[in-house]
Amino acid sequence: MRTLRIPRRSPADPGAPALTIHAPAKLNLTLDVLGKRPDGFHELESLMVTVGWYDTLTFAPAERFELSVTGAAGVPCDERNLVARAATALAHAAGREPAAAVTLHKRIPHEAGLGGGSSDAAAALLGLNELWDCGLSREELRDLGATIGSDVPFFLCGSPAGVVRGRGERVEPVDPGPPRWAALAKPPIGLSTAAVFAAWGGRESARATEQALQVYGTAGGALCAATANDLDGPATELEPALAAEQAAFAAAGLVRSCLSGSGTSRFALCRSAAAARSAAAALRRLRPGPVAAVPLAV
Ligand code: ATP
Repeated sequence: MRTLRIPRRSPADPGAPALTIHAPAKLNLTLDVLGKRPDGFHELESLMVTVGWYDTLTFAPAERFELSVTGAAGVPCDERNLVARAATALAHAAGREPAAAVTLHKRIPHEAGLGGGSSDAAAALLGLNELWDCGLSREELRDLGATIGSDVPFFLCGSPAGVVRGRGERVEPVDPGPPRWAALAKPPIGLSTAAVFAAWGGRESARATEQALQVYGTAGGALCAATANDLDGPATELEPALAAEQAAFAAAGLVRSCLSGSGTSRFALCRSAAAARSAAAALRRLRPGPVAAVPLAV
């Protein structure tokens, strides 16, 4: 398993060290919005990859469910947290009590289009499946994950890259491809996913995913040129301050940059790790908010 790493095995007894999982963020290298479905969700096609920016979760035996969240203000630690929802769903599926002590250390910015909450939920399904010895298969966890959040199945697909279709529940794993790096920035502005999709308003898709897939396995700049997100324009119309983000990327030498998901994070693929680090340093000088140079498909 490459999307989520488990450095230590599950404890069989309460004195054993907690099971630790590092849950990566994701980027949408492409995001095609193909239409609105009768159920209110949007039909999507997206080439997604994990990136080396992680939340860390630990799981230990306990008499009841306890979740503590550190590292981020504004992330709930009650049943609204996707980790708690994953625990409840798994316990229900396995016919047991959701008893565990879970810690979640947030590093991935939230309301960012980086899938942090979904990745945490996927990590919780994997970690608690092991801690509780539920024995659910990866496919069963994926089906359960789809009921928790649209991006959860991607994080359980067993590959750090995949094409995601439907509202996120259909995932086709893709070979990780050559090593790649991106500069990634989250402005101190949030946008509601629902508002961004409403602003999209049915416009025609650029259908970038197919083209990106054709060049995904190749080294060089072709993939950078193929990155595109149908929600980029609508998000900027909704929040004109996002135009300054795009301008900051251009000023940092990153001519082709792209929104991830429904925003508000923006990224650009870079030629090398060194190029990503130097672009990230420039972005830090040019604009406020977290910035990282991240490896792709970790
Ligand atoms: P996506 O890329 O899936 O749209 P996102 O970047 O918009 O994700 P998340 O990090 O998934 O955002 O969190 C969005 C909201 O969900 C947060 O404002 C928070 O209130 C809630 N939330 C629930 N569980 C979590 C979690 N484990 N981590 C972060 N936010 C969570």
